[in-house]
Amino acid sequence: MSANIHWADITADRIIKQLGEKDVYTLASGITPSGVVHFGNFREVITVDLVARGLRAKGKKVRFIFSWDDYDTFRKVPANMPKQDELAKYMFQPIVDTPDPFGEHESYAAHHERSFEAQLEKVGIEVEPLYQAVKYRAGEYRKGIRTTLEKRDEIAAILNEHRTSPLGEDWMPVSVYCEKCNTDHEIKNIKWDGKSALSYECNNCQNKGQLDLETTERVKLPWRMDWPMRWAHEQVDFEPGGKDHSSQGGSYTTAKEIVKLYDWRSPIYLQYDFVSIKGAGGKMSSSKGNLITVNDILKVYEPEMVRWIFASYKTNVDFAVSFDLDVIKTYEDFDRQERQAYGVEAANEKKAAMAKRVYELSQISTMPSEMPFQPAFRHLTNILQIHDGDIKAARSFYDSDIKNERDERRFNERAACAKHWLENYAPEDFKFSVNSSNINYECESNTKSFLTAFKQVLEKDWASFDDKSLHEKMYEVIHEHEVEPPVAFKALYQSLISQDRGPKLASFILTVGKDRVIQLL
Ligand SMILES: [Zn+2]
Repeated sequence: MSANIHWADITADRIIKQLGEKDVYTLASGITPSGVVHFGNFREVITVDLVARGLRAKGKKVRFIFSWDDYDTFRKVPANMPKQDELAKYMFQPIVDTPDPFGEHESYAAHHERSFEAQLEKVGIEVEPLYQAVKYRAGEYRKGIRTTLEKRDEIAAILNEHRTSPLGEDWMPVSVYCEKCNTDHEIKNIKWDGKSALSYECNNCQNKGQLDLETTERVKLPWRMDWPMRWAHEQVDFEPGGKDHSSQGGSYTTAKEIVKLYDWRSPIYLQYDFVSIKGAGGKMSSSKGNLITVNDILKVYEPEMVRWIFASYKTNVDFAVSFDLDVIKTYEDFDRQERQAYGVEAANEKKAAMAKRVYELSQISTMPSEMPFQPAFRHLTNILQIHDGDIKAARSFYDSDIKNERDERRFNERAACAKHWLENYAPEDFKFSVNSSNINYECESNTKSFLTAFKQVLEKDWASFDDKSLHEKMYEVIHEHEVEPPVAFKALYQSLISQDRGPKLASFILTVGKDRVIQLL
């Protein structure tokens, strides 16, 4: 049994204490596939996943359901979608009936659902997806819909407590998709006969229709009723919510009252805060609709690290996922915690225990018995650039470090991330490419003689140098030739990479390799 130091374990404990022993604990999450599912939505899913792991670590069985609200109405064409005009024709119809503008899936909803499901799989999250359109149309919620109609007055009273102007006499707690035009936004005059007949008028197409509640597929509950009805239907025990749902009078506040009308109680709740992105630049501005997805984060961070980032923060803390220079720091922090988790680096007892638990929760599969090899991210970016971005060529530098399959995966994933980061997010002064031929750098005579002397030292004693001794030797030669160190460094960087600055010189020179350096100086 794991100690309760991490919030996921503490929450798991709270669930067991409050609900008692159960055969299965049902944990829920859900999203409306109204467009690209971005990383902000991911915080909810990983929150549930971590709590699920907390429960399983205590020997409990967990059902993790994920509701795709694809019977929701298509309210807005996102700016980043192709075929805008075509999509606009489906406004206010069920999202599940909107065609996929990419032509890859059976619907617009399915396109975004499959994409997000594949991303969840990459970070080791396994859910039981529930497709709301399928369930509504199969009549699975008939009882819930009937209860909603029967309790219309009680529901209105609960909602009115949080409204400035009360709901009208004609308000009904259900919505209808018109049989003629399939939209729900201009439905008026919904009337229920207290038995099975529900009549409505559609101001969009002037259709007047009557539905049989025993057979119709066209009635849906609006969100404020839909959410608590499904809590009862699936007997949900735990579901977190974002700040927007948690506010006073927000949908969680009313849902926890309304759920009682369906003979259930509100699930145990956990509010999570917002998560943002730092340093992704203009290409990811939300005004253009180019939202960051889990896939985008996976291009910069290893899958375990994506989990680790979210598991590292308490749910009530907002944080940013970095795409800028802080990526290096994030890798360094992760590597340190990994070492602490394996006891390779010392930490006080509490810190080490937390490092280990966060690390366990970050695993896609089981925790390897041996600590994986850690190619330092910053150094890896240099190695890659020295090899012109060729990952296979860069691997040769690490041949002796890569001992097993896990090491191999670590190298391949981290190298791909480093390469993507260099190409898309690294600051300009971080990038370089090694000159392909000698540029005959023009400089003062003492600088020139320094370069010549340093080159001779390298030719003669290359094999004897390590980072430290080469660094010392370099300063020795600089002083012998009475060159200002900044002038000498500039001469070396210019000769090697045609820039005024670059990576730390001694280790850089050794990594570039003797033949190449001698040729360039
Ligand atoms: Zn209509």
